[in-house]
Amino acid sequence: MLTRVTRFVEEHGDAMPNEMVVRGTSHRPKVRFPAYFTKLLVYESIKAHLEAVVQTVVSEQVFYSIWRKYLWHADLAKSNSFTKCGECVRLRQARDNAFLLPDHRDFDEKHRKHQLDQVAHRTDYADWKLRSILNPAKYLCLIVDGMDQKKTTIPHIGMHNYSKDHRHDMMMKRNLTEVVAHSRKPSIYIYTYLPFYAHGFDGTITCVMRTLCELQASRQKWPRHLRIKADNCWRENKNQYLMCLASLLVKFGIFEDVKVGFMLVGHTHTDIDAIFSVCSKKLKDNDAYTMKQLFSLIESSHKIPSKCIELDHIADWRRVVDRYVDRSIVGVSKPHLFKFFMHDGSSVVVYTKYCTDAEWMPEGRPVHWFPVVDGQYARPTSAPQPCVMPCVVKEDFRMARDSVQKFLDVLEQWQTYRKEEVDKREDALSYWKAIFVEADDMIQKQKMKETEEGEEEDVLGADEPEIYPHTFWPQTLEKLWRKFKKLTLLRQMLRLYM
Ligand SMILES: [Zn+2]
Repeated sequence: MLTRVTRFVEEHGDAMPNEMVVRGTSHRPKVRFPAYFTKLLVYESIKAHLEAVVQTVVSEQVFYSIWRKYLWHADLAKSNSFTKCGECVRLRQARDNAFLLPDHRDFDEKHRKHQLDQVAHRTDYADWKLRSILNPAKYLCLIVDGMDQKKTTIPHIGMHNYSKDHRHDMMMKRNLTEVVAHSRKPSIYIYTYLPFYAHGFDGTITCVMRTLCELQASRQKWPRHLRIKADNCWRENKNQYLMCLASLLVKFGIFEDVKVGFMLVGHTHTDIDAIFSVCSKKLKDNDAYTMKQLFSLIESSHKIPSKCIELDHIADWRRVVDRYVDRSIVGVSKPHLFKFFMHDGSSVVVYTKYCTDAEWMPEGRPVHWFPVVDGQYARPTSAPQPCVMPCVVKEDFRMARDSVQKFLDVLEQWQTYRKEEVDKREDALSYWKAIFVEADDMIQKQKMKETEEGEEEDVLGADEPEIYPHTFWPQTLEKLWRKFKKLTLLRQMLRLYM
């Protein structure tokens, strides 16, 4: 019974990114059931599963005591929960308004089908993860997500030191994106960058590509099949620019095929959110005045190996691939699964509406990704090196800069004789002074530009784009294979002479 209940929680519950449940010395990320479920419905669903496989079912009371004793981190959806799924809420309201028992049964059946769909999407992700763990030489599964900016402000003040003087508007927000590369070492990559770098899908793509380069640089087995899991946000993930990246990863032989999958809308919370909640708990209890201190808190919050990277540049992916995006391909937001591979010398895509669909669409003829210009597919002939995303000096950034200055004024007046406190303060002061030199330089440049052009302009450096200074593309399968053959030959020669 306990095994079945635990599995039910894993399959149906959403891990909350910012909530931990504490019992004694144990901490667990909170898991919340979708809005349709009541306690009784959870029991009845598990009972139905067990009866279907002819297993003993305990009474309702015993079931509740098992829940309280072993699954105290699992809870029902609250009325103000932001993770609600529209379909679950609609079915629950319709059920509550129905008077007749057959209607209740009808809604329960509809909800059961909807749940089967969402469980299938979770199982599909679990399958990708498992392949990446069991066969790393063949598969790599990445999951990417962003953390709430309010949690990652610096200076960061833990709850125990938090006062009205430490409001969020006194802090500088940091964008934080996490990429989990299952079964790799390290497997968690955390990227942060200051708010004057534009974010959105360019940020997501920079983080994904940097992770691939980091994995390759650490000489880990390079797989042939890549799977990327992301949430459905079109601004950051589900758009033609991410799809264009997937098609180029295949076109330039980095992978044989790339699958991009999305969870069912309203049920997108997974293991990456559980990782975020562990991180949030650590941040709630501790202060961090500089990025280094924030990184050390984040790294110490993870039991599995993690690496924090502060991005100094964001690759301007849109600028480099805009002309290779086929505007006639529409409806990217509808399917939940895409597969990119090579067909007749060109990279193509097939898709399914749900990951449970058996047949790829469109039937029998994959879609050629690149637009046709003068009767030919317009596509880059070599892997394009992007430029750097221009910095954006917006009003909120100026405000953040002024607010942090107020915080530093307080910091300078600290009266303390404890050596570690003094060190901490000096560390923070020199860190912020360096950031302000950079920020003032940007604001100054912008003022000059405004005077020259005589109009308000909040983007810097757009006229002279700088090439992205880091390696953007990992090496191709072919190059890696040639390197491997050279090494084997060298080893054989050394053996002959020794
Ligand atoms: Zn739902």
